[in-house]
Amino acid sequence: MNKKVAFYTLGCKLNFSETSTIARDFHNEGFERVDFAEKADIYVINTCSVTENADKRFKTIVKQAQKVNPNAFVAAVGCYAQLKPQELADVNGVDLVLGATEKFKITDYLNDLSKNDFGEVHSCEIEEADFYVGSYSIGDRTRAFLKVQDGCDYKCTYCTIPLARGISRSDTMQNVLKNAKEISEQNIKEIVLTGVNIGDYGKGEFGNKKHEHTFLDLVTELDQVAGIERLRISSIEPNLLKNETIDLVSKSRAFVPHFHVPLQSGSNAVLKKMKRRYMRELYVDRVAKIKEVMPHACIGVDVIVGFPGETDEQFLETYNFLVDLDVSYLHVFTYSERDNTEAATMDSVVPNNVRSKRSKMLRGLSVKKRRAFYESQLNTKRTVLFESENKEGYIHGFTENYVKVKAPWNPELVNTLHVVELTHIDEDGLVRFNFQEEKVA
Ligand code: SF4
Repeated sequence: MNKKVAFYTLGCKLNFSETSTIARDFHNEGFERVDFAEKADIYVINTCSVTENADKRFKTIVKQAQKVNPNAFVAAVGCYAQLKPQELADVNGVDLVLGATEKFKITDYLNDLSKNDFGEVHSCEIEEADFYVGSYSIGDRTRAFLKVQDGCDYKCTYCTIPLARGISRSDTMQNVLKNAKEISEQNIKEIVLTGVNIGDYGKGEFGNKKHEHTFLDLVTELDQVAGIERLRISSIEPNLLKNETIDLVSKSRAFVPHFHVPLQSGSNAVLKKMKRRYMRELYVDRVAKIKEVMPHACIGVDVIVGFPGETDEQFLETYNFLVDLDVSYLHVFTYSERDNTEAATMDSVVPNNVRSKRSKMLRGLSVKKRRAFYESQLNTKRTVLFESENKEGYIHGFTENYVKVKAPWNPELVNTLHVVELTHIDEDGLVRFNFQEEKVA
């Protein structure tokens, strides 16, 4: 009888694409994939180092698995496993912890699934994780996450990702196009490009520091791959979002008008301390350029509150900066100290109650921004990709410019694209519409 495996993924789209690829390896080894809530012989937890209380979350998830099957083998991979391998191995019930160089070889470690007395660690210095392993997610969600780049060479003072994922390196153009084609042949309508710093695409494509291709080359090539209905750029650094890329998206066949661009702070003094590679003026310029060629584009913003030394004035600078900026929603992160980062040793620590007050203010602003953006899209025609879940009798979907819509549940709509006219915003903030034409795809 086939052994059963279950997965739990924390963190970003990149982690989901890697879990999905690892799951395919298990399948090829004859394992049957089951849901994490079900009884399995092995539970694999793909960890994240950015998630708030990552350690507590991890312990809870291990306990959850042990409750379902106390004899099951528990393995941890991912960013947290690379940063704090022994800490995870010491958690009761954990049998195996694999670092960045070993995570894709996990099936090599599973000859014996009997529980270990203590967690076995196979980790490495992050400098050794200088090679690239491709991945993409399929089957878990309506859209597929396609990894095109990994690691980062930037030195943002609050960030642990370079310590967890290593130097910036990219998939070969040929392999990205092959993966994209494979995905589109499995009736997936939308591909989301993911990585750590995808604007740096091309660096390390052939194992060296050179840029063989650029991000613009990548989007240009992908836009020509037949069979892909929609392509979405997950997140891109403002200083790497070039005019040519914005122009290409505005004229492209498949790239959707949605940009998620980390800002982090609207105060140049704070941006300097964060060692971000731009000043707020560049961010204004990027937004203006996008809105000039795509007035209906959706722009999402990452912003951190409570960074060491952030004064009330500097926070208000960020707040007012965002009030004035024509953006569509905010992802608000409350600064939290991370070991081995420069910011963790900085003075003028902002008290937690002040951090949460600032976070609350920005989350309130995000609601207003999203509402204003949705209102600006009413009475326009958009194309919706419908999702697969029946949510209390409703089916949800997203337009190309990331407006979330809903309609009464209809299984025939699952994973289909339809042109609609957006009509009004419901009491829950989702948008209703009228169908315009037959199914697009
Ligand atoms: S760009 Fe900065 S914040 Fe983003 S992964 Fe790299 S170091 Fe971290």
